Amino acid sequence: MSDSTAVRNVIIVGSGPAGYTAAVYAARAALEPLVFEGSVTAGGALMNTTEVENFPGFSQGIMGPALMDEMRTQAERFGAELVADDVTKVDLTGDIKVVTDSAGVEHRAKAVILAMGSGYRKLGLADEDRMSGHGVSWCATCDGFFFRDHEIAVVGGGDSAVEEATFLTKFAKKVHLVHRRDELRASKIMADRAYANDKIEFQWNSAVDTIHGDDKLTHLTLKDTVTGETRELPATGLFIAIGHDPRSELVKGQVDLDDEGYVLVKQGSTETNLRGVFAAGDLVDHTYRQAITAAGTGCAAALDAERYLATLE
Ligand code: FAD
Repeated sequence: MSDSTAVRNVIIVGSGPAGYTAAVYAARAALEPLVFEGSVTAGGALMNTTEVENFPGFSQGIMGPALMDEMRTQAERFGAELVADDVTKVDLTGDIKVVTDSAGVEHRAKAVILAMGSGYRKLGLADEDRMSGHGVSWCATCDGFFFRDHEIAVVGGGDSAVEEATFLTKFAKKVHLVHRRDELRASKIMADRAYANDKIEFQWNSAVDTIHGDDKLTHLTLKDTVTGETRELPATGLFIAIGHDPRSELVKGQVDLDDEGYVLVKQGSTETNLRGVFAAGDLVDHTYRQAITAAGTGCAAALDAERYLATLE
């Protein structure tokens, strides 16, 4: 790695579509970005999936890890310096930002782009990760299309779960909405829409106990949350919609966050409350959570950082 005492133009934290896209743009603008990719999941959320069919430019689809490898190579080609390490501490309040790596080495930069993404909440079941992309999904927009005429299940009882279940009825022949309680938490208008949809069948007071299948999901075992009894449910798809956790712990107390922990940016921009600190991707985005939208805001963050750096000259 290059001299850690030199003051960089820009440091990027995160290596999903937002981080790598920011790196491509910053590198092509001759800003020589340093990118912390993370030690475990370099490449971000798409490293855990199989086929991505909705990223423009790949008419036949592309495997998630292959897409991320392309983005990584593209960033490297223009001179981004990529480090497979975690940022463990930041001081973003001054004009010179200090970013500390896992070995305790401090790196300095005039601008920082935050692109740490958000984690989908998991059920914590054996085989949940193994079956990701093989029937288990966290994203109806991404994967609904694969379940045309299938019988599937959605877990959750809030707005997202109900919205996903309703959306999935466009494809699936039946959607079981599995919820721990006997009523939905979702807003009345969303819930009423789901109750009126005859493709949605409610599995009240139920939790997923076991996911079955070798290469493809075949069925689920549900457990009654009141009686403890178990029963089998046919389902070739399981959509987990129990929430997300933005990875904003690192910047808490410095960068303004909303009530759910997402980084707040000024409307129509990627600027945070701190001068020279920009944020992009699922770390900011409650709403869309797609690779292309993360890449789009990653691009915007690099352009915003470039303009900010120009004002310092
Ligand atoms: P992420 O991709 O989450 O990347 C964040 C990165 O930051 C990670 O690499 C992480 O290691 C790193 N990081 C975090 N903290 C630190 C730290 N302290 N130091 C250094 N690095 C750090 N979207 C689609 O458009 N199409 C799909 O088909 C699709 N399928 C999906 C399938 C699955 C299973 C999942 C989970 C998501 C899918 N998505 C899909 C959604 C898409 O993956 C996300 O919207 C997108 O990856 C968000 O990009 P991001 O760059 O904001 O964050």
